[in-house]
Amino acid sequence: MRKIFAGWLSVILVAVLTACVATSPAHIDDGRIHVTILHFNDIYEITPVSGGKEGGIARVATLRKQLLARNPNTITTLGGDLFSPSAIGTAQYQGEQLAGRQMVDVLNHFALDYATFGNHEFDLKEQQFNQRLLETQFTWISSNVFAADGQPYTSVKQHLVIPVVDKKSGKTFRIGMFGLTLPANQSGYVRYSDPLTAANEQIAQLGGQTDFIIALTHQAIDDDVELLEKFPQIGLLLGGHEHVNYQNWRGNFTPLLKGDANVRSVYVVDLHFDPQTGKTEVKPTFVPISGSLAEDVAVKIVVDKWMAIAFDAFRQQGFEPEAVITNTSEALDGLESNVRTRKTNLTELIAKSLLRPYPEADLSLYNSGSIRIDDVLPPGQITVYDIIRVLPFGGKVQLAEIKGELLLKVLNQGIANTGSGDFLQSANTRRVGGAWEINDTALDPKKTYRLAINDFLASGREHGLDYLKPGTPDFVIVNAGNNTDIRQLVIEQLKSH
Ligand SMILES: [Zn+2]
Repeated sequence: MRKIFAGWLSVILVAVLTACVATSPAHIDDGRIHVTILHFNDIYEITPVSGGKEGGIARVATLRKQLLARNPNTITTLGGDLFSPSAIGTAQYQGEQLAGRQMVDVLNHFALDYATFGNHEFDLKEQQFNQRLLETQFTWISSNVFAADGQPYTSVKQHLVIPVVDKKSGKTFRIGMFGLTLPANQSGYVRYSDPLTAANEQIAQLGGQTDFIIALTHQAIDDDVELLEKFPQIGLLLGGHEHVNYQNWRGNFTPLLKGDANVRSVYVVDLHFDPQTGKTEVKPTFVPISGSLAEDVAVKIVVDKWMAIAFDAFRQQGFEPEAVITNTSEALDGLESNVRTRKTNLTELIAKSLLRPYPEADLSLYNSGSIRIDDVLPPGQITVYDIIRVLPFGGKVQLAEIKGELLLKVLNQGIANTGSGDFLQSANTRRVGGAWEINDTALDPKKTYRLAINDFLASGREHGLDYLKPGTPDFVIVNAGNNTDIRQLVIEQLKSH
């Protein structure tokens, strides 16, 4: 009873919260200049997530229009990670992978104002990345990301001054903004400078010509905290990267704000600038995005267009995206923070699927980074598209013979990689007090094991596991798995249970 009541209460609170933000006046005629910022970060899906209950860019577009009606001085910011990875982005269209083209088009129609780069922007090939920059109608801000020749990208601003003029008094509120990205994704075509050094340079330049400085970042929370503690001149940090929401008040009690990934939540920030004192008051509001916000019709048309294009592409690959595979009674956990640190019901389902073509296999192994959904599939219908979302890269499943000694090294490396995509998932393995068991028997370093493995992990391309590749004497591929597709195997596994 109590649980049901708590559930109802939170529904009511969320509804009230959303209504408040959109209707409470941002403009009181108090001589101050009022600016509203709508901030979100880490968006991979253009549709709602969590079975349609949360997120959805078209819903945020409605919120944006409500905020604009309340305060014409409303700007929108995106704290990075938008080009990749996503299931839709892997679809082939006009001879090329979409690779974020769908997201840029949707955000152009959304009328996003400013974005900084996330680490996942550089998952793209150089030509794809440059093409996305050309398609973009919003403004990129980045202070520490450069092209391979060390020069800034021509269409990217290192900092920006946004003047907001009060029509009545004629006075101006000058907002300075700079952008930082964690230097994690070392693609050949990108160079990073040290974020703190870059911040120092930009703040020095913005100092004399602005009333308020915003850092738009995509970096780890500890680095954001350090930034605010080093630079009290920053008035607000709008971030991303963790995929979970944060509201921290650091340094000079400066708000550090991040929303949940896939716009499951956003931040609305009201700035009240007093031209007399030069001081700016900052009032953030956390806004969960749910079905209580209607989808904006114009943005939804663009979303639907790209979904149809991608679904056609999946059909050409032999998938029927809308087909229902099964009905589950429990939620399948594909949250990145879980699949990269431990086994979940979803990782175990996939690990068992790898064994399907090879009844002779002793165990299976795959890299947790193959799982990209970063979402929970709620109980109920599981469609083929859900599985494409789980494993957007696909790939074959191979059978290898591996020496026990090498297997031990690989399993231990998988544990050492906890927290990242090279953390390994497996079936028929167990770790007991630091030692490994295969099928409930202690791993024998002298024995040769039969291993079902995804082709990416067996290719030597996985971080820290570059020795696991064909041509290694203790690791021999005995079946290349040419007629297998990891996604089809998971679909078959779900159907059989
Ligand atoms: Zn990120």
